[in-house]
Amino acid sequence: MLTQAPKGTLDMLPQDAYRWQIIDENMRRICAEAGYREIRTPIFEHTELFQRGVGDTTDVVQKEMYTFEDKGHRSITLKPEGTAGAVRAFIEGHLNESLPCKLYYAACPCFRYEKPQSGRLRQFHQNGIEVFGAKDASLDAEIIQMAIRMLEANGIGDLKLSINSIGCPECRKAYHEKLKAYLAPKLPTLCKTCQERYERNPLRILDCKEDAEKLTDAPAMLDNLCPDCAEHFEKLKKYLEALGIAYEIDPRIVRGLDYYTKTVFEIITETPQGNLTVCGGGRYDGLVKELGGPDTPGMGFGMGIERMLMVQDLRGIAPAAPDLYDAFVVTLGDEARLEGVKLVRELRDAGLKADLDHAARSMKAQFKYANKLGVKKVIVLAGDELTKGVVKLRDMENSTEEEIARNEIVARLTK
Ligand code: ATP
Ligand code: MG
Repeated sequence: MLTQAPKGTLDMLPQDAYRWQIIDENMRRICAEAGYREIRTPIFEHTELFQRGVGDTTDVVQKEMYTFEDKGHRSITLKPEGTAGAVRAFIEGHLNESLPCKLYYAACPCFRYEKPQSGRLRQFHQNGIEVFGAKDASLDAEIIQMAIRMLEANGIGDLKLSINSIGCPECRKAYHEKLKAYLAPKLPTLCKTCQERYERNPLRILDCKEDAEKLTDAPAMLDNLCPDCAEHFEKLKKYLEALGIAYEIDPRIVRGLDYYTKTVFEIITETPQGNLTVCGGGRYDGLVKELGGPDTPGMGFGMGIERMLMVQDLRGIAPAAPDLYDAFVVTLGDEARLEGVKLVRELRDAGLKADLDHAARSMKAQFKYANKLGVKKVIVLAGDELTKGVVKLRDMENSTEEEIARNEIVARLTK
C-alpha cells in the first residue's frame, strides 16, 4: 500500500522525463510562433465553477469529479479539465482588454474519477489552448491546425480529424424537441442517468457510452442548424480545405462537456491496439458570459499527454533519450578528485553536461558507472599524468585514448 501509487495515477520517472520535456518544448515553440501566451491556473477551484462551466448534466460533473470540503467548509474540486479555470482567470484578470486573447497551458493536471483502464487515468495531463474574442471560423481552423502541428511535431501523424457542429442555444431549442420526440419511446430502455437527462439536456444522451449503440439513427444536430451556425460550419470547411487539412464530418460527436457551441472536433489516431482519441475541442461562445464575464466568444482544445506517450510507445516512435553527459570525469586518488571537481566546474561553465563520481569508488567502478549511463567521453585524471599537466580523453564508443594538455581539454570538448 505504502509503496503503491493510488489507482489510476502514474509516476513520471526520470528516464521518461525527457519525453515530457520534448512535448513541452514543441508546444511552447508552436504557441510562440502563433502569438499564444502561457496561463497557469490553480489545480483546484470552487466546485460551482465546474458545475456551471462544464455542466451539471455531464458525466464529468455527475460521476467523475474529485470534490471535497476544505477546512473552511468550502466545496472544492480538483480540476477535471482546463477550460473552466482559464475562463475564470480570463474574467478575473480582465484579459478582455485586448482581444483576441490567445492562451495556452502546458501539462495541466486533470483529475477524473474514472474506471482505470488502458488510456484512462484518474490523474492525467493536458496541453491545451484557449482563444477568447474571435468569432470567425478562421480561428476554428487555426485551432485545429495548432493541434495537428503539435501532434505531428511529436511524431504522431496519420491523424483522423472529425468535425461537427452542435449549433447554438437558438437552433438547439428546436432540435431538442425533435430529439425528445425520437427518444421518448426508447426512454425506458436507456440508462438511469440518461433518463434523468431527458428533460434538462437531451443532447447529452447522445454522448452516453452505455446507450450510444441504441441511438445510431437519432436526428443529427448538424441537419438542424440555424442559418448562422450553418454558415459558420461551411466557412470552417473552406478554411480547412484552404489549409490542406483533411477532415471527416461526424454528426455523432457531441463532446463530453456542456459548454460547446457550433464547432466541435476530435482527433483520433490509430495504434496497434485500436483507435485512441488524443485531442478534443470546440467553440464555447456562451461560456464566458455564463460564468459572469462579458459576452465573449471562445474556442480551445485539450490534448492528453499520456495518450500521446502511449501512441508513441505503441507505434515504436518514442524519441531517443538525449545524452546525460557530454563528458564524465574519472579520478584516481584524493588529489585527482580535487582537480576533478575543478575540471567539472570548468566544463559546466563552458555549457557542457559533465559530472564525476561522488561516491569515492574505484576507477573500475567509475568506468562501469559511466558505461551504464551511456557516457561517450571519459576524462581520466590520475596522479602521474596530472603532475605532467595532461589528462587522458577516452572515447568509450571505439575504446581509443589520447593524451591532452589539462589546459586544453575544455576547449577541445566544446569544439
Ligand atoms: P472520452 O470520451 O474518451 O471520455 P473526453 O471527452 O472525456 O474523452 P476530453 O474531456 O475531451 O475527453 O479530454 C481531452 C483529451 O484528454 C482526450 O482527448 C484525451 O486525450 C485526454 N483524456 C481525457 N480523459 C482522460 C483520462 N481519464 N485519462 C487520460 N487521458 C484522458
Ligand atoms: Mg471522458
